[in-house]
Amino acid sequence: MKIGVLSLQGGFAEHMRQIESLGHEAIAIRNQCDLEDLSGIILPGGESTTIAKLLKVTGLMEPLKNKIKNGLPTFGTCAGMILLAKDIDGELSHLALMNIKIKRNAFGRQSASFRTFSTIKYIDKSIELVFIRAPYVEEVMGDVEILGKVEDKIVAVREGNIIATAFHPELTEDLSFMKYFIKLCTSFK
Ligand code: GLN
Repeated sequence: MKIGVLSLQGGFAEHMRQIESLGHEAIAIRNQCDLEDLSGIILPGGESTTIAKLLKVTGLMEPLKNKIKNGLPTFGTCAGMILLAKDIDGELSHLALMNIKIKRNAFGRQSASFRTFSTIKYIDKSIELVFIRAPYVEEVMGDVEILGKVEDKIVAVREGNIIATAFHPELTEDLSFMKYFIKLCTSFK
């Protein structure tokens, strides 16, 4: 399968490595023409305001939004989750595709970056979760399914063809979360 990884800024290389180590093709997405024939797309972590600016500059914002709206399986990590949210606490939204309200940099100063283990729905074991100046989901609306919580905060969600995590599964050796996303890509084929 061809899985796209938005490669404008942030941690795209680690996602590409995980996709390739599962035997799939990772495509760097930098232009509208890269969006053709994908089985799924990943929006990586980084700085959401910077990625949003680059999405506008490259003309990718609208075509990407349309692809996801039309059912392209999508996985947003951290900044990617922020880009997908319809509501960002006190700020304007970007792709505005998921019925979630996000609080950015929400885990507080001392714990701005941390690792922990937790269980995530549909993954049959506890996995390592890496949080880097991470957001959490303050509120879910509509048909959003909660997949996981840490410190009582919602950190993983799914709504139809879109999943989003506040943590970075691509920064661990564990491929379970990527396998879960690839399965989602297959089920939407
Ligand atoms: N703090 C970043 C933002 O608000 C997200 C951090 C990350 O992607 N690791 O965009």
